[in-house]
Amino acid sequence: MWLLNPDKSGQQPLITVIKNNIKKVLKNINRALEKTGNTSSVKLVAVTKTVPADRIKEALDCGITDIGENRIQEAERKFEELSLAQSIKKHLIGHLQTNKVKKAVEMFDVIQSVDSIYLAEEINKRAGQINKIQECLVEIKVSEEETKYGLHPDKLPDFLEKAKELENIKIIGLMVMAPFFEDPEQTRPYFRRAYGYYSSLVTRHSLSYLSMGMTNDYEVAVEEGSNMVRIGTGIFK
Ligand SMILES: *Cc1c(COP(=O)(O)O)cnc(C)c1O
Repeated sequence: MWLLNPDKSGQQPLITVIKNNIKKVLKNINRALEKTGNTSSVKLVAVTKTVPADRIKEALDCGITDIGENRIQEAERKFEELSLAQSIKKHLIGHLQTNKVKKAVEMFDVIQSVDSIYLAEEINKRAGQINKIQECLVEIKVSEEETKYGLHPDKLPDFLEKAKELENIKIIGLMVMAPFFEDPEQTRPYFRRAYGYYSSLVTRHSLSYLSMGMTNDYEVAVEEGSNMVRIGTGIFK
């Protein structure tokens, strides 16, 4: 259905561009994975913020199963327009304000940006009200940048113990953003540190995902143990 021919102007239709971009990303992920000697797989979350619904649909036609949005209102509008299949997992990747938790819990399969026990408690309360077990990732901060959101890694063990007592939340992993560098190689120490935290907690807390890597740095992230990457520009540019 998406195997369209180039149009008369010689320009490739967008669907072909998206398809080729996805192919390239998957190939790069596999190459990075091979370097690690790791046999596990990496989940690709297509970040669809600022991308209109018709182009999201094209990505879904290419086999994308997980999409990430960072703003509730924009996501709400597009999800309505798309009437997504149940099998498509919707991830909230942007900062979540307390007053939007109710909406977020109604709309998203995974909330990746939980960075305080207070927010976790609020999510738990709202999820309880609709009899849902809300899957969440804890966003941790691995750089000293003042502006970045995220839980300080020192607080992570305590956070995870407390979150266990919240019946309507399931913490399934960690999410990390490295600072932006022109040269992605410079993100490596941040991702390595994040993997250190992840591996020290993975068994005790039954974690499944380490979400790290964006368009600029996902290959390094996968080499350092990421098993979930969030790619926007690299797919929709
Ligand atoms: C926008 C965004 C991404 C994707 O960024 P790209 O550079 O476009 O791949 C990933 N994660 C988060 C949290 C984002 O806000």
